[in-house]
Amino acid sequence: MKIYVESYGCTLNKSEIGLYANKLLSEGAELTSSPDDADLRLIGTCVVIQHTEDRMLRRISDLSTKGKVQVLGCLPSVSAGSIESENIQLLERKDFRSYYKGSLDDVEIKEASVFDGIPINQGCTGSCNFCISRVARGSLLSRPIEKITGQVLIQLNHGIREIRLSSLDSAAYGVDIGTSLDRLVSAVSSLPGEFRIRVGMMEPGNTSRILGPLLNAYSSSKVYKFLHVPVQSGDDRILDAMNRGYHAEDFRSIAREYRSRYPDSTLSTDIITGYPCDDDESFERTVRMLVETQPEIINITRFSPRPYTPDYNLKTPPTNSVKRWTADITRLHHEIAEERMQKQVGTIRKIFITEHGKNGSSVGRDNAYRPVAIPGIHDLYTFVDCEIVDATYAYAIGKIA
Ligand code: SF4
Repeated sequence: MKIYVESYGCTLNKSEIGLYANKLLSEGAELTSSPDDADLRLIGTCVVIQHTEDRMLRRISDLSTKGKVQVLGCLPSVSAGSIESENIQLLERKDFRSYYKGSLDDVEIKEASVFDGIPINQGCTGSCNFCISRVARGSLLSRPIEKITGQVLIQLNHGIREIRLSSLDSAAYGVDIGTSLDRLVSAVSSLPGEFRIRVGMMEPGNTSRILGPLLNAYSSSKVYKFLHVPVQSGDDRILDAMNRGYHAEDFRSIAREYRSRYPDSTLSTDIITGYPCDDDESFERTVRMLVETQPEIINITRFSPRPYTPDYNLKTPPTNSVKRWTADITRLHHEIAEERMQKQVGTIRKIFITEHGKNGSSVGRDNAYRPVAIPGIHDLYTFVDCEIVDATYAYAIGKIA
C-alpha cells in the first residue's frame, strides 16, 4: 500500500500524524510524495479558526477525487461525521486517545521526513471559552515518562537528534499521572548522546505552577532556551472573559523569572486580536505588556467564533478596529524581534544544523533556538561555530567562524 501524508496545524497534530504514518510504514506501507500515486491519503487536519476549517474541507474534497482519504487531527471530532463518504474515512478522537494509552509507543521511525516530534499528552486542563481544540481533543491524558523516553531513544537511534516534545499544554503534563513536565525534561536530557530538546507550548496557568523546577530542568545544555507561553491578551478583563484562569501579571512574572535565569533566550507567545469584548483600552494594555516582556515571537490570530464553544454567538468588535489592532501588534512584533535579533550581529554562536536550506545553504539553531542560515551544506545534527554577520526579525545570517 502506498501512502501520501499531509498535515496542518500545531506541532502536536503534526507529531501524531507523523507517528501514525510511521506505524503504517513499519507495517509495510510505502511513502509516496504524490497524492495521485497513493492508495491511501492521510490528512492531519486543524480547525482552530473557521478559515482553516474551510481550507481543510476543500483539500479533503480535492484529495477524495483521487481515491481513499483518511482524515486525522481535530476535524473528525467536530464534524460529527458530516463529511464521511465512500472515499473519506474519519479517525475519531477515541482512536487518537488510544495513542496515549500505548498503541504508538514502540513505533519504528521508517521515514524521518514525516516524523515531527513526540506527543507527550493529549488534551488539557483548561476550558477556554474560545477554544475548539478542547472540544476536539478532550481532557488531559499524559503518557508515562518511560514511554516517552523510550520513543526518544528510538528517534535518536534513527539519527534524528532534535527532540520536539509536543502538546496543547506541555505544562499540564503529568498532572493526571502524578508526575510533571520538569521531571520529563530532566529524564529526556539525561539520556546519553548529543542532541537538543525543544519543549512545546505551555499555558501560563500551569507554567506558573511548575516554573521553578522547570527552569532548573532547562539548565541542561541539551534544552533549547525557548519558552512558548500563549498569553492571548494583556488585559485581565479579557482574560477572565476568555476563562483563561490567569492574569497578565502571571505572564509578566514568568517572563521576568525566565529572562533573569536565561538572558540569552527566546520567548514566544500568542495574541488573539478582536476578542468579543476587546476595545482600545484592552489593546493598549496588551501592547504595554508586550513592550515590557519583549517576546521575540508573537503569533497573532484574529478571533474566529468556533462551534461548540461558549463564545460562538458573541458580538465581535468593529472590523476596522480589529484590522488596526492586528496591524499594530504585527508591527510591534517585527520591531521587537528585529531589535533583539540585531544584537546577535558580531557575536560567535555555536549552531546545531537541523536542516538544509536553499541555494546550497544550511540552517541551524543556536542555544536559544534562533534560526541561523549559513552558506554550504553541513552534516545534519552537527555543531558549527559561526559569526553572525546580519539579521532579520525572523532569522540570523552567519559565516563559518
Ligand atoms: S488550555 Fe485553553 S486554549 Fe489551550 S487547549 Fe485547553 S482549552 Fe484550548
